[in-house]
Amino acid sequence: MGVVGGGLAGLACALRLARAGVKVTLFEQRRRLGGRATSFVDQQSGETIDNCQHVALGCCDRYLALLGQLGKLDCIAWHDRQWWVEEGGRTSVLEPMRGHRWLPGFASHAASFLRASFLSVQDKAAIATAMGQIALVDRDSHRDVTFGDWLAQQNQPASAIERFWTPVIVSACNGEVSRVAASSAMHVFQDGLLAGASASRIGVPTVPLVALYDAAEMLLTQAGGELLLGETVEALTATTVTTRACEWAFDAVVCAVPVEKARRWLPASDVRLVQLAAAEHSPILGVHVTFDRPVLQTPHAVLVCAGTQWLFRKDERGCVVHAVISAADAWMGLSEEQIVARVVDDVQRWMPSSRGARVVRARSVKERMATFVPTPRFERSRPGALPDGARWGEAVVLAGDYCDTDWPATMEGAVRSGERAARALGC
Ligand SMILES: Cc1cc2nc3c(=O)[nH]c(=O)nc-3n(C[C@H](O)[C@H](O)[C@H](O)COP(=O)(O)OP(=O)(O)OC[C@H]3O[C@@H](n4cnc5c(N)ncnc54)[C@H](O)[C@@H]3O)c2cc1C
Repeated sequence: MGVVGGGLAGLACALRLARAGVKVTLFEQRRRLGGRATSFVDQQSGETIDNCQHVALGCCDRYLALLGQLGKLDCIAWHDRQWWVEEGGRTSVLEPMRGHRWLPGFASHAASFLRASFLSVQDKAAIATAMGQIALVDRDSHRDVTFGDWLAQQNQPASAIERFWTPVIVSACNGEVSRVAASSAMHVFQDGLLAGASASRIGVPTVPLVALYDAAEMLLTQAGGELLLGETVEALTATTVTTRACEWAFDAVVCAVPVEKARRWLPASDVRLVQLAAAEHSPILGVHVTFDRPVLQTPHAVLVCAGTQWLFRKDERGCVVHAVISAADAWMGLSEEQIVARVVDDVQRWMPSSRGARVVRARSVKERMATFVPTPRFERSRPGALPDGARWGEAVVLAGDYCDTDWPATMEGAVRSGERAARALGC
């Protein structure tokens, strides 16, 4: 079998096929695996840094199973707590109650939620009521409405939307609540916060992302397959892959490239082309900043109502931080200097103890087409691995975070799509 694209979807597919004893050739245009969830060597510092901080939740079970297969589960640091910081530095910790991790759903976080200072009593009451609805709702019946409209129907106060629902959904779905389908947003809460303490804990890699995939080549070659890095595919069909040097023939071909590329390769007769046309993208900005002194005391922080949404501590002392801004349309026109100035301003206003800290080094990474947005239109259109009724070898098998896994654009969604593609191939 041929698999084109060495991101998480292609990798998950290729490894599942290999485990079933299938000989796989995996084509990846870059010299490294991981696709959008990878790292690069920063020319300025010589360090290997991630294109952007990637975070998993405890509920990402297929992604974690893949890490297990790669022998890298111990490279994830787990955090039960979330630190929500207001301008001026007041910090609320959302965490499961000690000794009550077993409590179902939101109940495990109830005590810290009630204590949180960044929400008013009215906001908390409204959020708790809506959470109760989300826990019970059939999310599939909410694909046609945006989460913003659904929140309005639930009479959610503007402050609850701005201070709670928006930060969670923008970071999880990479789209404003006014764009994201309610079904996708509900999925985030149903499988995460509402599924209990283990499901909602935050997993942060302790090594550069690219190091997570070290074992992939060995696993593929052990099954008689091969990994071709730096091999750009120019075209593909259901049974052929064309590179600059030659045309390869396979029993079946899996196309695991981003949606905008997959669109170019499917034949005009493939009914999934219409579905793919509904995909819209949204940018994410990652900013690496090294300060001359510690600025971040906690492993991460959500900056409530700031332009800079999340900060992650990247060294023991808290001098090196990684800032993440999802749905970052408003930042795309800024220069690196302007971006860094804004992030530093946010850090100093939200963490006043950092005032006076000097920037030693900074690097911003703009991903303009970072992910698709799970809009109501696209949620109705996400394609399957094969067109209805088609068999492998007759149509290109699709894998990628945009396929119909029901997950927003995440590593978990990508892995699930790769596994589905392998299942469509009988493995
Ligand atoms: C900035 C940013 C931050 C993110 N943060 C998170 C996060 O915190 N948590 C989370 O779960 N998800 C996050 N995501 C989303 C996650 O990275 C993606 O959903 C997931 O990695 C997509 O995997 P994929 O395999 O579907 O696609 P990709 O990772 O895009 O893989 C496609 C692969 O195909 C290769 N390819 C393309 N064209 C060719 C060609 N012609 N020939 C050969 N190979 C080709 C590409 O090089 C790439 O390796 C983030 C994404 C971005 C961009």
